[in-house]
Amino acid sequence: MKFERVLKRATFLDPLNGFQDGGRDCEVRKDPLTGRNSRILFFPIRELPQPDYEQLKKKDPGFCPFCPENITKITPKFNPALFTQERYSYGDAICFPNAFPYDENGAVTVLSKDHFLRISDLTEKIIADGISCCVDFLIDVKRNQPEAIYQSINWNYLPNGGSSILHPHLQVTASSVATNYYNDLCRTLNEYGDTLFSDLVDTEEGLGERFLSRDRYFSWIIAFAPQGMFDVIAISHAYFEPESLKKEEILNEIVSGIKRVIDFIESKKVISYNMSLFFMIGNRKFIPHMRLCPRTTIPPLDTCEINYMKMLHNEPMSTMKPESVAEELKKIWW
Ligand SMILES: [Zn+2]
Repeated sequence: MKFERVLKRATFLDPLNGFQDGGRDCEVRKDPLTGRNSRILFFPIRELPQPDYEQLKKKDPGFCPFCPENITKITPKFNPALFTQERYSYGDAICFPNAFPYDENGAVTVLSKDHFLRISDLTEKIIADGISCCVDFLIDVKRNQPEAIYQSINWNYLPNGGSSILHPHLQVTASSVATNYYNDLCRTLNEYGDTLFSDLVDTEEGLGERFLSRDRYFSWIIAFAPQGMFDVIAISHAYFEPESLKKEEILNEIVSGIKRVIDFIESKKVISYNMSLFFMIGNRKFIPHMRLCPRTTIPPLDTCEINYMKMLHNEPMSTMKPESVAEELKKIWW
């Protein structure tokens, strides 16, 4: 597998150097999984201020449908014709239909009784119970809706990550229609062949520039072409379906990696992220994998990191070189 990149240089007369000949470099990189481009900009990174959790809590409206006193009164129950339980629960996690779904099977899994948890409060047990709860829901989807093959467990953590409720929760979907991500990936799979995922892992391991570890069930790498500021990918070594996450050792391995990545994100003074764990039921070429990206705003104006490039050109940009992120993350990995 070859990683495709184009180096670009913009030339101009540089005001910072007496209007002498100058310029700036950037790089266009193609994601080997989706075939989509990302851009790496070589700009100085502005130091982020300490996150102000108190300010965030002050904006909270006060009423929360996910808090224990409201959750069973206010959240919907699953359709008994399709599901074996009205709501799924596992540890403190509770899964119920999303009242504002994006698809025919959209559910929310509330992770804790606590209304607000910082990243450092999100223990491996909380995350593992949440994922297990989502898995119970997905097992029932497979049983009664075999056409809903595009299944994913997703996380918008805190408002910069797109969450409208502070109470920590996952979003789980199962659809008969592919998202653009699935479409892009399936196109690459058809063009490249069955060994796309294993070749990516082998190539990254060989290069070592972005490779974190090859564990028992998953390999961990920093994406060559990130979807966000940086993008950590965990790729399973074999095809499996969500119910395999009922096996404690598989679940624990992925959860422990997720926890390390989000702790790293918090150490960078970033307090939001997006995560997706992708499955495609019945397509043994589509290897389950997870992607996790930090989400932040840019000081001093809290500028949204998504501008016209990602919004309208569908081209993510980052000022963090994936290889430098990998170097830093390696220091806390295992
Ligand atoms: Zn709450």
